[in-house]
Formats: sequence, C-alpha cells, structure tokens
Amino acid sequence: MFPKIYLVDVTNRDGVQTAHLGLTKLEKTMINIMLDEMGVHQSEFGFPTTRHESRYLRANLELQRMGVMPNIRLAGWVRAIAEDVELAFKMVPNIKSLNLSISTSEQMIQGKWQGRKTFDDIIGDMTQAADVAKKLGCESIGVNAEDASRTDLDRLVRFGQAAKAHGAVRLRYCDTLGYDNPFTIYETVKLLAERVGMPIEVHCHGDLGMAVATSIAGAKGAIDGGQDAYINTTINGIGERAGNADLVSCVLAITKSKNFGEKYRLGGDIKLHKAWEIAKFVEYAFGVPIPINQPGVGANCFAHASGIHADGVLKDPQNYELYGYEELGRGEPTFVETGREICAGEYSGISGFRHVMGKMSVELPAAKDKANEILELVRYANVQAHKPLVEEELRFICQYPAIAKELLTMIPLE
Ligand SMILES: [Zn+2]
Repeated sequence: MFPKIYLVDVTNRDGVQTAHLGLTKLEKTMINIMLDEMGVHQSEFGFPTTRHESRYLRANLELQRMGVMPNIRLAGWVRAIAEDVELAFKMVPNIKSLNLSISTSEQMIQGKWQGRKTFDDIIGDMTQAADVAKKLGCESIGVNAEDASRTDLDRLVRFGQAAKAHGAVRLRYCDTLGYDNPFTIYETVKLLAERVGMPIEVHCHGDLGMAVATSIAGAKGAIDGGQDAYINTTINGIGERAGNADLVSCVLAITKSKNFGEKYRLGGDIKLHKAWEIAKFVEYAFGVPIPINQPGVGANCFAHASGIHADGVLKDPQNYELYGYEELGRGEPTFVETGREICAGEYSGISGFRHVMGKMSVELPAAKDKANEILELVRYANVQAHKPLVEEELRFICQYPAIAKELLTMIPLE
C-alpha cells in the first residue's frame, strides 16, 4: 500500500505550553472529542507526569472506554527518561500511547546540558525509557528527537535505529525552532525514512513563517523515502512562540495545492466540514481571535470587495476562490442574542439554569437534587473558565456529570 499522511494534533500539549495561554481540563476534553469527530489520527492530550493533568487524562481514557471518541489515539508526552515513564504509568495507569522526548542536537548538549550528557547518554536514556514503557504495557511508543533540524544526520539515523530496535513505532523529527525550510526538511526526512525504515513524524514551528510548508515538504520526504508520514498540527496554529503548523491549513495544503494531493494522500477520513466548528471553539477557549486572513476560517477568506473580484466570483466562485466555504462547515447563520440574556455562571440558580438549558432543548433531570448536582458542576466549570460556557460544554456536563466532576477536581498534593 502506498504510504499516507496522518495528522497528530498537539494543541493540548504544545498549544497549552504557549506563554500567556492556557485551557481548562473541560476545554481540553472538548478539543479531544472534536478532533475525533474530525477524523484526526491522534491527539497529544497532555502530560502524564504533571499532577494537575492526571485526573483529566484518566477521565479522557475513561470516556474512550465508554465509547466516546472511539477512533482517536490519545497519547501522552513525557521526557525520554525511565523515571518519567514509570511516573506516567503510576499516575495514569491505563495510558497506552506515549511520546518520549529528548534533545539530540549539539547545541542542546552544549547549551542546555552544558556538556553533562554525551550523545551516547541521550541514546541510553531514550532506549531505557522505551524499554520501561514497553514493559509497563505501552502499545504505541513514539520517540521525539527535539531540535532534530539542528542535529547531525548520522546521529539522527543512529537515534532512530536505536528507537526502532527498542520497540518504537515512529520517529518524530522536531523542527523545534522553525529553522528548516521546505527544501532542507524534504531532503533530511527522505534520507531518515530510507535509512531508519520507520514512519516519520514532522513537528514544525512558524518562526520563519513556514510551518505548514515545511510540514508538507517533510511529509513528502517521508513518503518518497517509502514510509508513512505524520504531521503535527495545532488548531489555529497556536503553539510556542510563533506557533505550530495550523491543522486546517495543513489539510487544505495537502488536499488543495497544485499537484500534491493526487500522490500524497491523507490517511483516515478527515472531515474538513468540521474545520469551522473546531477553529471557533479554540478561538473561544484560548481567547485568541482567529486572524481575519487565517486560511479557510478567517473572516475575510470568502469576502470580496473590489469590483473585478466581486463581479468574477459572482459569475463563477472558482474565478477567485480555490475552495468553497461550505467545505469548511461555513455558511450557517449564527445566532447572537441582542435582547435579554440569561446565562449560566458561577453564581447561577436552578431556575435561570433550567431556562438556559431549555433554550438548547436540553431537559434537566426532574429530580431536584440531580438537577442541582449538574448546576453545581456548571458553576465550578465557570469558576475555572472565567467566562460563560458554550453550548458544547454545557451539553457535555449534562451528559457526563461523573466525568465532568473528575475534570473539575483540583486537589494539590493528593
Ligand atoms: Zn513544539
């Protein structure tokens, strides 16, 4: 079978590491569910060694056991050292997928570890971590070469071969600083795929404005090297510094750009019509407006003002649009309340809350104590979000109150 391109979204890991930004555990959960609905292969859903994440991670694995988000793979991110892997399994015993990350470049050996680690030590740490992960029941081990784009190719090959020999299923090539361009990443990833002989993931950043371009060039390299490609994305491109490769832009670039999609195909069934919904949810959750010129989901993507363009697009949209707005799930009018508004907040009472849910056609349980229990959860969710919840979140809390309770529980130093 001809190799394909799969999407691994890292919004819930790289996105939340971004300075000045964060997500509640309920928001992270909604993102996992929406990514599953969109057909994304994997969500890097968080940090199993971070204490305040563990209830959320366990609750999301429980949701999956219950049949919610049936298709997506939920993978945790840990440092590639044996202690972290052991701690991850202690805190999240049912975790089945891990990405083990360690820096591989000479810059990091000298600049970060100040020469305390050699490259052989790095391979030793990573292979030990992979062995422990396997022993503890990890079904899918990915190994990340951090700062791979500034790492010598022969070293990367050695790193990848060692990872493969110790049971890893994928090698993540991290262009941690956004240093690659489409030409360099293509060459390197192609050689890596050929010489290591395992699927390659590309993790690209936008410091030079090329995250999406380097991602698809890297994916082409992996496939031309005979291996499946995995692209790391984030929703709306939110990620450290200048951000990561935007999920929707990557799908558009792969499927709509000149002569690309005929040979280099997306694996799985990606539902582009979910793009608008997920982008708007993440805009709300991070509180970061989508730029008006954001590919596909920006306010101006299908707006035409100049005479020649407006005339042309009215005669035939293909004159000035590469793809239709309907394909992204746009075009439905949205409802904005301009009169009296009752919202659910951290000090809401049951009568107002029944009204809010009634407007969404959600019946609260008739039993007063059951309805009050849900209201109490909604109040706590508001305390954490500092903003009125959106419909998807309110529906989720009503449908899965026990899971919502887990997501909202924060006990330092249990
Ligand atoms: Zn990153």
